[in-house]
Amino acid sequence: MLAICSADHALHDPPHELLDGRLIPPYESPARAAIVHAALERAAIEPLLPPRAFGPEPIRAVHDARYLAYLERAYERWVAAGGNPAAVLPSALAVRWMSRRASGPLAEPGYYSYDLSAPIVAGTYRAARAAADAALTGAALLLEGQRLAYALCRPPGHHAGSDLCGGYCYLNNAAIAAEYLLREWASGRVREWATADQTRPVAPSPRRPVAILDIDYHHGNGTQQIFYERGDVLFVSIHADPAREYPYFAGYADERGAGAGLGANLNIPLEAGVDDTRYLAVLDTAIAAIADFAPRFLVLSAGFDTFDGDPIGDFALMADAYPLIGRRIAMLGLPTLVIQEGGYAVAALGENAAGLLRGLSGM
Ligand SMILES: [Zn+2]
Repeated sequence: MLAICSADHALHDPPHELLDGRLIPPYESPARAAIVHAALERAAIEPLLPPRAFGPEPIRAVHDARYLAYLERAYERWVAAGGNPAAVLPSALAVRWMSRRASGPLAEPGYYSYDLSAPIVAGTYRAARAAADAALTGAALLLEGQRLAYALCRPPGHHAGSDLCGGYCYLNNAAIAAEYLLREWASGRVREWATADQTRPVAPSPRRPVAILDIDYHHGNGTQQIFYERGDVLFVSIHADPAREYPYFAGYADERGAGAGLGANLNIPLEAGVDDTRYLAVLDTAIAAIADFAPRFLVLSAGFDTFDGDPIGDFALMADAYPLIGRRIAMLGLPTLVIQEGGYAVAALGENAAGLLRGLSGM
């Protein structure tokens, strides 16, 4: 197994977020990546590779061009217009009947955000690009024949939609990697090994190359939005019921996809207090849906805020659950790219991530 990390994540270090009406230090902090990095070294998961530079094209394949131009210059324009230099955080959001495009430097953040938990600082765009490059590097490694790669992405990505940031997320790393896998696969440039593999329990469907499984505690609303009308990517998410938990306005079981994507979106919302036994049973349902879809590759959006004692979650998974989750997913027999998403019980985060990877790699 190969892991990809970039030190550039530390460029994204906002001073605060607004959560449930409170201005607080962000739970999504540079310490998270540092502790996972240290745990990978302790677990002798090596080598830890720097990301390759992919340029903007694979990101434009998923995100709106004007949104990307906004992200790149948001901070400097905000500060020049008199916004608080601590971080870009909008005063008003464009919603429902008040959603005119406004491009002034103090207005635009409200056009491209859906909440107040994605503040932008001077280094945010560079950090987000490095995270996307880490995800893309992992995707490229799968195309080159690796069975398992882990991208230590920070900031995370699964809440970012095609033209909206929110929930600590700016660029959707999992979606960018999935789209890259799909396009490279469709181009026929992939090595022969990919069709010669006899170890798969299910023969892959050439027209449906990628499945994304999201096991973060929160619904992957951004990933869902990006692929909602697409039949070539399956999105499966196990998460806290949005009726009680962020992101509140998406993630319900009746969201099954639309148009060509009808049936290619599976949400499994869960009650509070979910323990290891309950979670593993639900995971089996998700895995069965993926086996039915018969993809060529799996992208795993891996959040660890399902852990018992996570400060912003109410599930009760123990550390022992993560290797078991990894082992069950590995039974699909798919080349798998693991993308780091959430997880805010920082002291336990490194061991939980290493545990999942141990399970996935059959260790
Ligand atoms: Zn989360």
